[in-house]
Amino acid sequence: MSTTFTRRPTRIVVDLDAIAGNLRAIGAHAGVPVMPIVKANAYGHGLVPVARHLQAHGATRFGVAFVEEAIALREAGVGLPILVLGGIFGPQVELFLRYGLEITVSSLSKLRQVEQLAEAMGRRAAIHLKIDTGMGRIGVQHANAGPFVEAAAGSRWCEVVGVYSHLACADDPASPMTALQLERFLEACAHFDRIGAPMPARHLANSGGILHFPQTHLDMVRPGILLYGVLPDAAARAAVAVRPALSLVSQVVYFKVVRAGSTVSYGATWTAPRDTRVITVPIGYGDGWPRALSSRGQVLVHGRRHPIAGRVCMDQFMVDIGDASAFNEDEVVLVGGQEGEAIRVEEVAVDAGTIPYEILVQLNERIPREYRVGAAPGPASD
Ligand SMILES: *Cc1c(COP(=O)(O)O)cnc(C)c1O
Repeated sequence: MSTTFTRRPTRIVVDLDAIAGNLRAIGAHAGVPVMPIVKANAYGHGLVPVARHLQAHGATRFGVAFVEEAIALREAGVGLPILVLGGIFGPQVELFLRYGLEITVSSLSKLRQVEQLAEAMGRRAAIHLKIDTGMGRIGVQHANAGPFVEAAAGSRWCEVVGVYSHLACADDPASPMTALQLERFLEACAHFDRIGAPMPARHLANSGGILHFPQTHLDMVRPGILLYGVLPDAAARAAVAVRPALSLVSQVVYFKVVRAGSTVSYGATWTAPRDTRVITVPIGYGDGWPRALSSRGQVLVHGRRHPIAGRVCMDQFMVDIGDASAFNEDEVVLVGGQEGEAIRVEEVAVDAGTIPYEILVQLNERIPREYRVGAAPGPASD
């Protein structure tokens, strides 16, 4: 391929079929419509390529965090309903109507703002009411849901297409918080029945809810991280068979023998315990590869795990491969599989002292993304 020499040897490889397969698996497991969440650059996988592929393979809607993300989707030709999950700013309401986006209405005053603008533009707004059942982020307090539901259901310029809340502790199957939030949410929804208004789509479950709390599936589920084949927490139960979609791959850029007692990288925090072989990998925290992995993480070379040696630098880090052999340009796998061994994002997160979400979304645009479609490598038709 003529592009081989102009592309950075470090790359993210995204298996789009894995994401589409995960969407199907989640739908089959939950038994209700799915709103795939593609915020934060589709959790680092690439907003537009992921959404376009899912639009062509069974998605019926999307959820994003910000209106800017939704506009990027519209401009890329995504015509499906898109719910913006974040709170709205008054001056941006017009954008929602102009681009035909679904609005999260999280207070009575925001409802009035949307109504006013919708009337001024002569266009009805599609809204989802946000109820705060314990997350404490945005939304009307569950105890005050009555008047809010009444005002929204009676609005001439707003069509209530959904009502939702967000779970704070669903990653933990043992937390009593989720049952409490579900109870509060259902009580809030009951106000629609009480006033004889049609019940909009009720949605509550994030990935943790989908995996651990079937009662929270209700009328629709909102998977983010699970869609990408990653579990929300290292302790989560893999109740749905999903496949990781993202691999992070680089190549050896330097090889040397390090004598016992010599140090490696900034701060000289790592000392060779014996004569050993050390490779340099050209990716660092400037790409979003966490500095917290200094002398903690592992990578794969020729299907074997080797430890990161010393501090992760901005653009490079070193790996102690012991007496194994490696040559310049040999493949180094930071996330993903190689010759029967695999490193998962969940494991990288534990090593870095964070959650898998942060590992994924930190991988920035300095790393080129490559998209795979159509099963195993080999048939390269298009
Ligand atoms: C991000 C987000 C989700 C998806 O969360 P995951 O834990 O990644 O499944 C669902 N709902 C809301 C409101 C969110 O902000």
